[in-house]
Amino acid sequence: MAPKHRKPNSSWGTDDARGDQSRTCAVSGKRMYSNGREANATAAHRMTDKESALKKLRTYKCLYYGAWHLTSKDL
Ligand SMILES: [Zn+2]
Repeated sequence: MAPKHRKPNSSWGTDDARGDQSRTCAVSGKRMYSNGREANATAAHRMTDKESALKKLRTYKCLYYGAWHLTSKDL
């Protein structure tokens, strides 16, 4: 009964690791977010953090990959 449960588990684990950690932009070196909503949510969350609360974060769309990045610089 074990083999049937193994497959879904291992593919789920691989997907999870890939989707969350290894996507960085080759141009800016920044983390890529798949959509503006995710980027905004992350920016909002970071701005509530004590250490980085003074920084204002913006989101912008990467021209090269169509992904979204966060920046603390004024554009
Ligand atoms: Zn980029």
